[in-house]
Amino acid sequence: MTDSATSGGGGARSWSDEDLEDVVDAYQAGLEAAGLRDSAVRTYVRESRTFLRWRTGRATPSGGSLRTRRPHQRITPLDLRAELAEYEAVLRATPLAAASVQSYLSYARMFIGWSDGSYRPRGPNRRGEPLARAIPRRSPVAGPTTRASDSTDLTVDEVRELGSFDWRWPENVEHFDHGWEYVATGGAASYRIRHGIGGRDVYGRFRVHSVTWVDGQPMVEGVAPDDYDDGGALLSTIRIEGGEHVRALTDLPIGYAGFHIVRQIDEIAAKYSRRSLAAKILDDDLGAWARHAILRLTSKPAGKPSGRTDRAGLEPDRPTMPRLEPPPKLDRTALVASMLSFGTKAKAELDTAGEPFFTENPAANRFVIENPFAFLLAVIFDQGIVAERAWAAPYELQRRLGHLDPVRIAAEPDSVAAAIQQPPTLQRFINTLPGWVVAAARRVISHYGSDAGRIWADEPSAGQLERRFDEFQGIGQKKAAMAVEMLERDLRVKIKDLQQTDIAFDVHIRRVMLRTGLAERDDRDHMIEEARQANPARPGAIDFPMWLVGRRWCRPGVPLCPDCPLFDVCPRLVDRAADVRGA
Ligand code: SF4
Repeated sequence: MTDSATSGGGGARSWSDEDLEDVVDAYQAGLEAAGLRDSAVRTYVRESRTFLRWRTGRATPSGGSLRTRRPHQRITPLDLRAELAEYEAVLRATPLAAASVQSYLSYARMFIGWSDGSYRPRGPNRRGEPLARAIPRRSPVAGPTTRASDSTDLTVDEVRELGSFDWRWPENVEHFDHGWEYVATGGAASYRIRHGIGGRDVYGRFRVHSVTWVDGQPMVEGVAPDDYDDGGALLSTIRIEGGEHVRALTDLPIGYAGFHIVRQIDEIAAKYSRRSLAAKILDDDLGAWARHAILRLTSKPAGKPSGRTDRAGLEPDRPTMPRLEPPPKLDRTALVASMLSFGTKAKAELDTAGEPFFTENPAANRFVIENPFAFLLAVIFDQGIVAERAWAAPYELQRRLGHLDPVRIAAEPDSVAAAIQQPPTLQRFINTLPGWVVAAARRVISHYGSDAGRIWADEPSAGQLERRFDEFQGIGQKKAAMAVEMLERDLRVKIKDLQQTDIAFDVHIRRVMLRTGLAERDDRDHMIEEARQANPARPGAIDFPMWLVGRRWCRPGVPLCPDCPLFDVCPRLVDRAADVRGA
């Protein structure tokens, strides 16, 4: 690997296919260091790997053609950019929705940008950061049209976070995933502000969408530009008195002096994107949204009601927006059938040349297939990091140690710890993992004659095998259930009584179970029992499709329902998962 393979930034670079795996690991570390949320890091890394798997001919996005693998060569960022154009053509030829294509491309583009130093991940000023820091420190709002800034800058107080809520427009109801209520004060005037974040189909795909209310009246809207995932900022068009859109900087009202002003068409490459100016504001920058909304309020002619009565008047592109069909009622049989069918299809797409897919590096993938102790360790590593990284870890551990012998691992805990902690670290929990690995080796020696394959060699029942895994440190119900499913489904290990398999109580599965209506509450025993009722012949079989749906579409916050394979059968009880947290 080149010495520059593990860092972004400038300079000439070239990599082998294998080196690029390390570049992704380094990218992940860079994203984490930049303060991106865990879920965002997982998505960035997963989609970068999707691109890399496609470019080496190991996988293809849904319905796309498999790429003929090129002879092994050094690859530069320029090569990657050329391959991205090819990737785009393949994606556009698939039945994937435009939103999904854009999403695949933007993640691949960011990864390539990171590899050549043109993209630096930024820790967005987002939820989780103290709200006080979200209040802008911009030049005072001043001018004849701005009551909020008669004498001092705007201040924000009494901030209260909101859960999900609905807002009834004249002709429909819009759902907001979360939001805030607060008081904005400028000079002698105070306003009660509500700022809600939701999402809807607009400008050719599903985008995050916000509305800001002033004293109960919806005043301004925000919509995600094409690079929203990069920085978390939304666009909101600027109007002057009479509602006219501002198109020239010289016409910009004086109160917008401190805002980041862009042309919408430069930020949203889509039909009907406007040529007018827009403020680009972080989605949770409460002070800026209050200021923008108050500026809009005060630009209205006297006597005109501040609230919107004619939605079409504010959103000329509205007639082009596809509306979602109302969600269907829950039909458990249809839902489970749809999950199982999607699971089978997705599995076939993921597996390459009949070999089950665990991780992108072919050697690492083969290692967990062929080495039972590596499989066991991968299950242990699979916690709090992307699955693909966890399943590559045993191979890398073996490479660093020079072996993966349980006897030596049990006898040399310091070497194991050093190998796991060596940068790039093999896991996030670098203080806990080494102990679990050594304990696993000791248990394999004491209970299974140093051969991890004997954990499942006697054709145990699913329940029996889950209990055996559960006895290892670092493996609980979630990972034990997952391991049983993987052994039978992927490695064709003989296991009896598959009606005893279970779903893993995993954060993705919890979200999907609640939103699809399969479960009523976020409770482990309840969910396991409901999955048993839903698919009694093999409850664990719905684990994989739910996990994948949760990872790809049924995301925390605003799910990507229009693209979800369960869309037609899911009652979309999105609010139910509002409080689901954890790993
Ligand atoms: S993404 Fe939407 S349609 Fe899919 S499972 Fe979640 S709530 Fe249902």
